[in-house]
Amino acid sequence: MNTSPLPMLPPPARPGDPLGAIDTPALLLELDAFERNLARMQAAAAAAGVALRPHAKAHKCPAIALAQLQRGAVGICCQKVSEALPFVRAGVRDIHISNEIGGAAKAALLAQLALHARMSVCVDHVQQIEALASATRAAASRLDVLVEIDVGQHRCGVDDAPAVLRLLDALGPHAQLRFAGLQAYQGSIQHLRGHGERRAAAALAAERAGAVVAALAAAGQRCEVVTGGGTGSVEFDLASGVYTEVQPGSYVFMDGDYGRNEVAGALRFEHSLFLASTVMSVGNGERCVLDAGLKSLATDSGLPGVWGQPQLHYVSANDEHGIVQCGVDGGAVARPALGSQLLLVPGHCDPTLNLHEQLVAVRAGRVEALWEIAARGLSR
Ligand code: PLP
Ligand code: MN
Repeated sequence: MNTSPLPMLPPPARPGDPLGAIDTPALLLELDAFERNLARMQAAAAAAGVALRPHAKAHKCPAIALAQLQRGAVGICCQKVSEALPFVRAGVRDIHISNEIGGAAKAALLAQLALHARMSVCVDHVQQIEALASATRAAASRLDVLVEIDVGQHRCGVDDAPAVLRLLDALGPHAQLRFAGLQAYQGSIQHLRGHGERRAAAALAAERAGAVVAALAAAGQRCEVVTGGGTGSVEFDLASGVYTEVQPGSYVFMDGDYGRNEVAGALRFEHSLFLASTVMSVGNGERCVLDAGLKSLATDSGLPGVWGQPQLHYVSANDEHGIVQCGVDGGAVARPALGSQLLLVPGHCDPTLNLHEQLVAVRAGRVEALWEIAARGLSR
């Protein structure tokens, strides 16, 4: 019997490595583009006098949240309570759960987290308020509560100001639950391709939110915060005069789907997220096979693009294989060599990050750091 110890799995890369030494599939973050994206969004929010609370569900990575806060973000959003845990652990002290939560276990965890950070959460039903009230009573903690209103997505949220006022009546007896304002997020407009159609759709959502804010004001109820917006609508939300806070997430990376949106204004973001993959087989003259399939990237918003090689088309994702059709370039089939590395632009960043443990942060062709995707898999 062999008594030598089992090898440990080495990291995909080490600081100082050239790109070619990265073991694939590995998620790369191009730091120069990433830092420009952070700076552009922060500058746009500052110029509009609107708070930036980036959505951390896009990256699930505490190092990225800390970089956003360092540049002036007021806090972060998480979509799930468990997702917030690694961010609190990393020192983030202001987190909005931009979602309703169901069940006593989640309310209990949220109430516990609220002993360590300012936490807020959405509600759209009295029953959620009762669950939050008993969990915070048990934990002796306080929560900020935002009422979610439906501004056109028809996902969560109440319809109008009277419904908001009914929820405020239910909040009233619970001094540890503070009404902080409204969430008015319209997800279904984010990927409307035309700049003009996105502008019009965002204006409609802001108009609906503004009407509820005005009706609440007429009833003597001030909304300190009106939060919402995503990467596709943020330039319009910032200018709306309705939103006091925006919560875009994907701008950090710019995935393939967002790359297909038409941009016309000054607010532009760059692809900073790439999946490094390796040509593992060249079985047939007109295709090659990559080591990156469904278990390395999400395809719900389209197949990945091959970065800088328009003659190569990623046409099919198997569990662990990516099939690339090789086009003709200058009369010859442009087939990359066996063992060569290709960079893919994932179609959808959020679920792609959720598949990986680390981001390999690179600059000028070298690995600079490995960042843990600590909230990966935390969907409770
Ligand atoms: N806010 C909420 C409530 C969301 O559900 C999302 C994304 O789905 C966002 C903000 C961020 O959107 P994006 O990553 O498209 O910028
Ligand atoms: Mn998304």
